[in-house]
Amino acid sequence: MPIPLYGVFGASGCGRGIMPLLRAQLHGKANADQIVFIDDAPPASQLNGHAVLTWAEFLARPASERSVALAIANSSIREALAQRCQEAGVSLLAVQAANVVQMDDITLGEGALLSPFVTLTSNIRIGRCFHANLYSYVEHDCIIGDFVTFAPGVKCNGNVHIEDHAYIGTGAVIKQGTPAKPLVIGRGAVVGMGAVVTKSVPAGVTVVGNPARPLVK
Ligand code: UDP
Repeated sequence: MPIPLYGVFGASGCGRGIMPLLRAQLHGKANADQIVFIDDAPPASQLNGHAVLTWAEFLARPASERSVALAIANSSIREALAQRCQEAGVSLLAVQAANVVQMDDITLGEGALLSPFVTLTSNIRIGRCFHANLYSYVEHDCIIGDFVTFAPGVKCNGNVHIEDHAYIGTGAVIKQGTPAKPLVIGRGAVVGMGAVVTKSVPAGVTVVGNPARPLVK
């Protein structure tokens, strides 16, 4: 009798941080051999007590249903893998640590991964496959697009809009906007580690420093 199969796509740093959260989330509903890593270049056949399968092996295993958490920091890869899942009829899993705090009126798109100590306050809209790594927060009235990535310790204050595929580095602080004039981080922009963002960042631009300025190469 086939049973559900759960995958963490990515058997590297990000995936190894998500696997224990998924295992805890499925406690009592699935045993360890129903929860596997998936990787296109498997580093080993077993990792931290779970099998590491290729995508073809994952699809070939008998299962009543298949779902996958996309645990890879690179947002373009996540988008490509989301497409791969959709084409194969595999659903996207949302994973969150037990101590995540979510307050009122939060819309969270499919496939979100929320690491330990993440806080989302109130009246927040977030798109598909958001990653919020350890200790990050999102304050009130923020709007976050699809495939946005927060490294650990990101402080995203209120009335900030972050467009699709933006990447916010470890420990960055984003100043709050206002309802009339939100601070906007444009599509595909990158905020460097420890940056203090005091004004909007255009699409595709990398900013670093305090106050954050465009990176001059
Ligand atoms: N990977 C994959 N398919 C892809 C791209 C990447 O399976 O299309 C795997 C890759 O083999 C590696 C992991 O995803 O094991 C990404 O690991 P990396 O250390 O680059 O990133 P992180 O874990 O920090 O997101």
